[in-house]
Amino acid sequence: MERVDADRWYRVQHVGDGVTLIDEPFIKAFYRCNIWHVRGRDRDLLIDSGMGVVSLRAHVPLVTEKRLTALASHTHFDHIGCHHEFAERIVHPAEADILAHPTRAATLANPYATDAIFEALPPAPYASSDYGVTSAAATGFVADGDLVDLGDRRFEVIHTPGHSPGGVALWEAETGILFSGDIVYDGPLVEDTYHANAADYVASMARLFDIPARVVHGGHFPSYDGRRHKAIIRAWLTEKGALGAKP
Ligand SMILES: [Zn+2]
Ligand SMILES: [Zn+2]
Repeated sequence: MERVDADRWYRVQHVGDGVTLIDEPFIKAFYRCNIWHVRGRDRDLLIDSGMGVVSLRAHVPLVTEKRLTALASHTHFDHIGCHHEFAERIVHPAEADILAHPTRAATLANPYATDAIFEALPPAPYASSDYGVTSAAATGFVADGDLVDLGDRRFEVIHTPGHSPGGVALWEAETGILFSGDIVYDGPLVEDTYHANAADYVASMARLFDIPARVVHGGHFPSYDGRRHKAIIRAWLTEKGALGAKP
């Protein structure tokens, strides 16, 4: 398979509201993490950091411009690979151990991280058989109801277990922006990981349904509006027989 130079690995797209999408276009869509950079007055926020197969700091200057906190929406390999490059790292306590000790099994690198997830391979000497996430113990934690404050913008932490036990979404009420991680996005959801929990998943989806989002930036696939947000969750809850009293 063709290899891609490091300077072509990342794609950077400004999406408005001081939000920038950084992603890895040579990873197939289903496995390609959306890395979200949010510009703040006092510090910037990075939500997830990709597979870690090419240095984000070396190839995306945006992430080095000012003080930055790297938050993990959760600790699967596609979301935390470059966390070790940042001095401030926050995660929900339920997945702190995985960020500190990111084994191939714990991060799902085993079984997912094979050559089959790529359209083209990362630069040499990358080898899927040797791939692993570099340890990056958290320097801080976030729990449900906490505020992540960038000085001029505030994000409420919503604990969203189900896809994984320490999943978090971030909700900015003032702009109506929801960063949802992998609990919900506009594509096939993953409900069968070793630490997934079906009851937690339903509860998290029911809770997110009530968030009056204007735009949702998920962990994978394109962003969508509030109407689509309701439609995706309504359809999912209906399929589970868990729609309850949701309109
Ligand atoms: Zn995940
Ligand atoms: Zn993911």
